[in-house]
Amino acid sequence: MLNALKKMCGVSLFIGCCLATALPRFSLAAGEKPRITNKRPNMVWIFSDDHSYQTIGAYGGRLAALNPSPNIDRLAKEGMRFDRAYVGNSICAPSRATLLTGKHSHMNGKYDNRDAFNHDQQQFQKILQKNGYQTVMVGKIHLNGKMQGFDYWEVLPGQGKYYDPEFITEEGRTKYEGEYVTDVIADRALNWLENERDKTKPFMLMVHQKAPHRNWDPADRHMSKYEDIEIPEPDNLFDNYSSRGEAAHGQAMEIDRHMNFKNDLKVEGNWVNNPRFAGRAKWYAENKPSGKELVKWKYQNYMKDFMRCTWAVDESVGRILKALDEQGLTDNTIVFYCSDQGFYMGEHGWFDKRFMYEESFRTPLIARWPGKIKPGSVNSDLVQNIDFAETFLDLAGAPIPDDMQGKSLVPLMKGQTPEDWRTSLYYHYYEYPGAHSVRRHEGIFDGRWKLIKYYGRDVPNGEERELFDLKSDPAEMKNLYSNPEYRTKIEELEKELETLKDQYEVPGEPPPQK
Ligand code: CA
Repeated sequence: MLNALKKMCGVSLFIGCCLATALPRFSLAAGEKPRITNKRPNMVWIFSDDHSYQTIGAYGGRLAALNPSPNIDRLAKEGMRFDRAYVGNSICAPSRATLLTGKHSHMNGKYDNRDAFNHDQQQFQKILQKNGYQTVMVGKIHLNGKMQGFDYWEVLPGQGKYYDPEFITEEGRTKYEGEYVTDVIADRALNWLENERDKTKPFMLMVHQKAPHRNWDPADRHMSKYEDIEIPEPDNLFDNYSSRGEAAHGQAMEIDRHMNFKNDLKVEGNWVNNPRFAGRAKWYAENKPSGKELVKWKYQNYMKDFMRCTWAVDESVGRILKALDEQGLTDNTIVFYCSDQGFYMGEHGWFDKRFMYEESFRTPLIARWPGKIKPGSVNSDLVQNIDFAETFLDLAGAPIPDDMQGKSLVPLMKGQTPEDWRTSLYYHYYEYPGAHSVRRHEGIFDGRWKLIKYYGRDVPNGEERELFDLKSDPAEMKNLYSNPEYRTKIEELEKELETLKDQYEVPGEPPPQK
């Protein structure tokens, strides 16, 4: 960089050139000398859709032995793994709205996948852009309307397609015939990085994968991956929800009853003639398993397709890391890997997300920052997706608006968690009635205890509660709410929940149910 600048500017112009291109635009007080700081870091934010921490090797667990994510694991080995990263509303589009605004759903107005997103509101990328960063978004954003605050954007319409995907830009639509969406997103991001960017400016490159969102359609080259492997089942694949309420019983996201044979499992409909899945369809037609055997068979195929999709995502991470190495960008680029929420890999018998239970409330988060983050470090502070926007602004040395609701993760990344770091998280899910029939709920989690309050339509008497002790019951199988031993604990959590709701300015009345 130094040599490049000298070549560009000439040595005598070097300082002036640095000030124009590499320093934050702070106004200086009288007599204050300009800070000749290190050049501002680049950021690459890799964001997948529904990628469970259970299928990332670095997180351990029952699937880690399958080595499902060597490149993401490399990132964790060279950076920091966040073990307690959570979302505020576990569903695709609201999670993206929170990412861009640094606000909970009730403040950015994007409560569910159906609401319109107000693009005119404050978003971190607009502030980064004003502060001299190039901002780029490639892939799935799932917020209808024209993106704002990005120098360049190329996004999927809505959910997008796995095969022959179409993308929208300022100029219109482009279809990539015969190509696979995960590869195209990486190609387009790398094309920008290699050929399009202004090399005198720092950048924020957001690479948003569609995968592994339902219906988990893999690339041809991965169809035989995991073919002869038995994927380990979770202990609670056959959960009967005893001790839990109507919400757990009444959902529509069971592998058993709700995973369909057509687009999910691809053994019915047009898929039967698709060479990718013809073998599976033939086996199913000949063997027709039933009962528990059918659930186990569905689980195996679901998991294999899901992990074939995440394998392509992992390959794309490898390509991005390689490109950063090749372009000499690694040392001054912070790379993040994250998902918009977690996902059920058969735990509780489920696929999908939405609940405040751990598998969907939590999300993977990994960050690499050479020279600043200690390689192989693990953070277990309570982190939430409201923190991301402020983290990006902090890293850029840009001003952080007071009305953003998170906290910068930069001190945590440096291994210096502030003493007053948060001790509890607020959660609120709204999309009911809606896909998968998960009742509305809000709740609090303090790292051990979780209190969930279901409310509204199709909840008995309009209110139902659950209490879990994650220390003794990490799989959340035993609802302790009605046990009198926990009265005091429940009162404490209720009080803390009210404090959080005040802090985050949660309206007294939630929006009406549609
Ligand atoms: Ca998602």
